[in-house]
Amino acid sequence: MNIAIDGHAASGKSVIAVGIAARLGVNVFDTGALYRAVACEWDKRALGEHTQEKMSAFVKSIKFDVKFIDGVQHTYINGFDYTPFLRQEKISVLSSILAPYPQLRAKLRKMQRKFARENDCVMEGRDIGSEILPKADYKFFITAPVEVRARRRFEQQKGKEASFEQVLKDLKERDYADENRVVSPLKIVKDSIIINTAGKTPQESIDECVSYIKK
Ligand code: C5P
Repeated sequence: MNIAIDGHAASGKSVIAVGIAARLGVNVFDTGALYRAVACEWDKRALGEHTQEKMSAFVKSIKFDVKFIDGVQHTYINGFDYTPFLRQEKISVLSSILAPYPQLRAKLRKMQRKFARENDCVMEGRDIGSEILPKADYKFFITAPVEVRARRRFEQQKGKEASFEQVLKDLKERDYADENRVVSPLKIVKDSIIINTAGKTPQESIDECVSYIKK
């Protein structure tokens, strides 16, 4: 069984994906971690301004690995485990700037599809229902108003990295970039079930999704 979960940044989709996966006894593949690891590696190599040529060479020079250790996803590039570094605000911003490159997405598409063929899983991202697993058994689209999402993200990082206004601005820019890119934009596909998480606890949103799966 494959379940596709897409949605806006900070919509609660990761928590929901983990909750559904726990109920079903399968792993969650967080595909955003791949793009975040790319941003970390790009940042570590200090590659700076991005161009088609730079990205093509970069894509050829990287090898991804994803392993689940005690149910936790570890994301590697060329053997380096980027898991502890993925959640920094600057990495959130850079990952969505680099994500539109088709050569990068093509490489990642292959590995995501292979994983889903070989494993029952919940796969979470932006283009899972539309592009990666168009035949997924269930597709959920998770969202909430941008101010609600910004408040959650701000509280998660406890104001340490950025002000509320900055987090809100970053989220609006990421929404715009994710929804308007030419390659695999974030969009609601016709067979996806829309879950609005505003005013709901994570548990309520998880229960709502699971009730559809039971049906
Ligand atoms: O989901 P998360 O916020 O961790 O994703 C980081 C960034 O990676 C997103 O803003 C998006 O630009 C990109 N992404 C993507 N396709 C996916 C998952 C993430 O383009 N399937």
